[in-house]
Amino acid sequence: MPYEKKEKVYCFDSEIFGEVKSISFYIIKAEKPAVVEPGPNAAVEKILHALEELKIGKDEVAYIFVTHIHLDHGGGAGLLAKFLPDARVVCHPKAVKHLVNPEKLWIASLNALGKVAEGYGKPDPLPEERIVAVKDGIEIDLGDDLMECLLTPGHAPHHASYFLKNDRILFTGDSAGVYAFGRIIPTTPPPFKLEDAIISLEKMMRLKPKVLAFTHFGFAENGDLLEALKVKLQKWGEIALGVAKDEGNIQTLHSKLLEKDGDYKELYELTKDSVIISGFHQLTLLGLLEYAKSKV
Ligand SMILES: [Zn+2]
Repeated sequence: MPYEKKEKVYCFDSEIFGEVKSISFYIIKAEKPAVVEPGPNAAVEKILHALEELKIGKDEVAYIFVTHIHLDHGGGAGLLAKFLPDARVVCHPKAVKHLVNPEKLWIASLNALGKVAEGYGKPDPLPEERIVAVKDGIEIDLGDDLMECLLTPGHAPHHASYFLKNDRILFTGDSAGVYAFGRIIPTTPPPFKLEDAIISLEKMMRLKPKVLAFTHFGFAENGDLLEALKVKLQKWGEIALGVAKDEGNIQTLHSKLLEKDGDYKELYELTKDSVIISGFHQLTLLGLLEYAKSKV
């Protein structure tokens, strides 16, 4: 399987629905190996295959890091854990109940994503004793490196990000938006909280990561990406507030963003045939507008 590599971290494309560069997963070849982002059920076979190619035994994997429970990130945690008998699943404390009993999450996902959710697959329940719920700032020992766990709500209340300290690689989940074709935009589904998202970004900026590992999609040298996303989030917040004050709808918000944000416009053009990204796109507009309406 093709991959990209930074230090001891391998990035693979899960190619869900045959779409390339939409959803990635990561394998850390540390003394205690780990998977970051099990992705949806539909990615699990690929993860197992990738582990085999990297010559990591199924019983060697020590951790599965889940950034949040949305199906494209944590939906496959229960299924993957069945194949990796000694792996513990690391997540935000608010994610635990959904991983143990995914029924409510599944219904909400079907409502929000429809056929895309069906393609991702229904999450398998995960036994509670396999879960490690993290506190902000705790470190998990991977033998030759440490993974610092950060609670990073905003995109979702149950979002965590993970920082591999020696390699200075930050796994952002959706807390730093979507990065594609060299452009970064926020992802803001309901119940999006702008203030929390900014605080989470600032927390991540303080770590000074060298590399960002996006779920959508792949590695990027940090440079000013986190700062750029913060500026953009603030700008989007102002645009959405204007639309909410004028009692506009999602279509109005979309038109305003097209007009005022060149990255948004270009990414919209480049990704409109992607089933996965267009699903996010609708939810991003909805969450942003609902947030703005709550402020008017
Ligand atoms: Zn996502």
